[in-house]
Amino acid sequence: MNPFQIAMRAWTVLGAALLVALLSGLAVAAGARADWPFRKREAPLAERAAALLSQAIQIDTTVPPGGEAALAEAWREVLADADVEARVVPTPGAGRGALWARVPGSGTARPLILLSHLDVVPADPDEWRVDPFGGEIRDGHVWGRGALDAKGVGVVQLLTLIQLARRDTALPRDVILLATPDEETGGRNGAGWLVREHPELLRDAEFLLTEGGSVRPGEDHRPSVWGVTVTEKQPCWLALRARGTPGHSSAPTRDAAVPRLVAALDRVRRTETPIRVIPAVSRMFFQLAGLAAEEDRAGYRNLEVALSEDSPFRRRFLGSRGRNALVRDTVAITVLEGGPRTNVSPSVASAHLDVRLLPGGRCEDFVSELEEVVADPELSLEVLLSFAAGVSGTDTALYRAIQQTAAAREPGALVVPQVIAGFTDAHWFRDRGIAAYGFVPRWIAPADTRGVHGVDERVSIANLERGVETLLAILDQLAQLDHQATQP
Ligand SMILES: [Zn+2]
Repeated sequence: MNPFQIAMRAWTVLGAALLVALLSGLAVAAGARADWPFRKREAPLAERAAALLSQAIQIDTTVPPGGEAALAEAWREVLADADVEARVVPTPGAGRGALWARVPGSGTARPLILLSHLDVVPADPDEWRVDPFGGEIRDGHVWGRGALDAKGVGVVQLLTLIQLARRDTALPRDVILLATPDEETGGRNGAGWLVREHPELLRDAEFLLTEGGSVRPGEDHRPSVWGVTVTEKQPCWLALRARGTPGHSSAPTRDAAVPRLVAALDRVRRTETPIRVIPAVSRMFFQLAGLAAEEDRAGYRNLEVALSEDSPFRRRFLGSRGRNALVRDTVAITVLEGGPRTNVSPSVASAHLDVRLLPGGRCEDFVSELEEVVADPELSLEVLLSFAAGVSGTDTALYRAIQQTAAAREPGALVVPQVIAGFTDAHWFRDRGIAAYGFVPRWIAPADTRGVHGVDERVSIANLERGVETLLAILDQLAQLDHQATQP
């Protein structure tokens, strides 16, 4: 060997040693998770979606306490693997955080946000057929708490981002992914905190898509319904407190706290709130008229008049608690607290009232009305949570893109701008002037939504796959509309 060959040989040995060291280092860094199917970039979309959701369910993010940062970090790694810009944003509370990611667009139109939440409500394993935090994949479904609400949403949005990042040409708009903590407890330490403390993350976004609406599959020759939520009822959560004479309950007094509270709650329970049809609800039922029973169609088309003048219709309409909740403010008595023991009359007793107001109502006005109903100066009402809900209009490019995608994929499908009785994090963004729609492309019969906050929550793998494909189709349709808008 000449000196050059010796040098080359030494270099080769050294290089091989370096390579081995590097590879084993990588293997260690990737840890046991290297074999997770969703880390294989080339795994089929359905398989990847199912594995990703299964893992997300296994990271328990029940609130309280949440601990959502662990899931945010797991998803950040998946996005980083796919060369998508992503980071975990710490939020108030130990172990809590949000995921933010972005696929840049060409910048000719303003960004669009895909929003989901990382936290879930508690699940009692004794009531479930499977371990709610096992992420079991069975019968073509992924089972577990959060499969529908809302880890399944996050997985669809995340995989959509990864698909976009693989493309050669950019969309006109940045697509921003936000997966936030704390939604189930009101979002003040999640989406609410982010829009206040980190408005730069929203980058002047024009649109947002989140949970709240989906596709109800068509049946019996009826078209499917793409429900796009444009506004929500407003929570006005209250604590009602009674004070009274405390003491031994062997010699009770009539002005003790518990009987006072019970008397007031009875008056609250008997009160009927007035029926009020807001424009968004009127529009929603007008659109749904064709699907209603023959005898209800005229009423749906002219809801306000029918509810005041047609009493058989009113009875039928209000007979559904879901419909009833869309035409009036509602009050549900939920938490109760009284004495600690059978033989103790406490000085304070309290109840929580879950009041839901129609959009446009004011919590303080409702509290004044309730004070008259309670009619006891020794009782106090405290507001626990309240916010105003804006309404997103339907005369936008994104709404049209959803309509056109529905028409192309399911001819005859109805796209309905809907109002929901529950609430999501969308209002934080509507408050900032962003057109926010509650819409996730998944095909779910009403009976299959029982798992949301219930037992045996699950989503089909087919829905996850179709969700990604349909969301991409909507974004592509929006891009076409954006191009047309910028043509001279
Ligand atoms: Zn949710």
